[in-house]
Amino acid sequence: MKTIDNLNFNGIKAIIRVDFNVPLNDKFEITDATRINAAIPTIKKILGDGGCVILMSHLGRPKTGPEDKYSLKHLVPALSEKLSLQVKFASDCIGDVPQKMASELKSGEVLLLENLRFYKEETKGDENFSKQLASLADVYVNDAFGTAHRAHASTTIIANFFPEKKYFGYVMAGELDSLNKVLKDTKRPFTAVLGGAKVSGKIEIIKNLLDKVDNLIIGGGMMFTFIKAMGGTVGNSMVEEELIETAKQAILDAEKRGVKLLIPVDTIIADKFDNEANRKSCDANLIPDGWMGLDIGEKTRLNFAEVIKNSKTILWNGPMGVFEMPNFAEGTRFIAESVAAATDKGAYSLIGGGDSVAAINQYNLADRVSYVSTGGGAMLEFIEGKELPGVTAIES
Ligand code: AMP
Repeated sequence: MKTIDNLNFNGIKAIIRVDFNVPLNDKFEITDATRINAAIPTIKKILGDGGCVILMSHLGRPKTGPEDKYSLKHLVPALSEKLSLQVKFASDCIGDVPQKMASELKSGEVLLLENLRFYKEETKGDENFSKQLASLADVYVNDAFGTAHRAHASTTIIANFFPEKKYFGYVMAGELDSLNKVLKDTKRPFTAVLGGAKVSGKIEIIKNLLDKVDNLIIGGGMMFTFIKAMGGTVGNSMVEEELIETAKQAILDAEKRGVKLLIPVDTIIADKFDNEANRKSCDANLIPDGWMGLDIGEKTRLNFAEVIKNSKTILWNGPMGVFEMPNFAEGTRFIAESVAAATDKGAYSLIGGGDSVAAINQYNLADRVSYVSTGGGAMLEFIEGKELPGVTAIES
């Protein structure tokens, strides 16, 4: 892998595509700095070598041009503090302002450019816009895994202007390394745990994983489409009728490939979608009318945990139930703890997708799993087997 460790940046000006798309409150304070923290080692490595750094990112979804609430200037104080230096800010990402500031940038200094998405050219992957960004630096580094599935100017097209001088930063390298450990250099048995609301969002993942896994565990709202496909009655639980045939096909495909498909045998049902609803345990295929399954049941938790415990590679995406409601979070917590316990015993575990990451953090288990992906959509596309343009741009 072509990472920044392949180069000594002494005297070199590097432009880094980072993912600083962080949430801000009304006072423009950062409420979750995870993405900024993730990029710090890459920046420090380049500064430590004696190079200087130009940072570019998007923030939010500005519609037609500059909007103060989406200005990256709001990030300067926090970033300066984290780097223990005064970060300079260019009020535009292309044109005379960044040109002058970039040309005057000295070794050890950091320049942050204004929001790339103030220009529609960014998401369009405009060649000329990319060229102007490229003209600011000697070397291109991509460290924004979260946007690696988009062929935008700053994530992909810009790399054309650095044919020999393009590198992955540590965030990118870490994410790719982890995905490769799970999907390519897989230690067996390999178990994928899929949950979350809908089959529709995960069907490509299921198809691709059926060729790779030994065990496929299905929980969350998507389990009811599978249970209905097997002839069960699911009451008012979430079901995607139009995907019942697809679920049937997945069940057949799993059988053909010798993949053990684990579908819940019991569930915690509720008489309304509410934490305070009446609730009880029930066979997953015999849910009465007027009731809906909002978590996996106790037998299911034990079945799933047994398989997870004996796995050497684990991929987990999506909660097992409506974990935002404490009364329906136990299944998700139990699975999170099982994944951590398997990791303690030497398994490699990758957790990805906003809600499973939130669950792992909520239960303070992030340190007990192998890798927590910040990649969201990019990670899911990789697991679907798709090529990520941002990755190909560096590798090609
Ligand atoms: P996703 O974004 O597809 O991973 O879905 C995550 C969402 O699925 C979370 O907000 C959960 O509350 C929801 N979810 C999980 N299990 C269920 C269920 N049994 N019924 C309804 N929603 C669920």
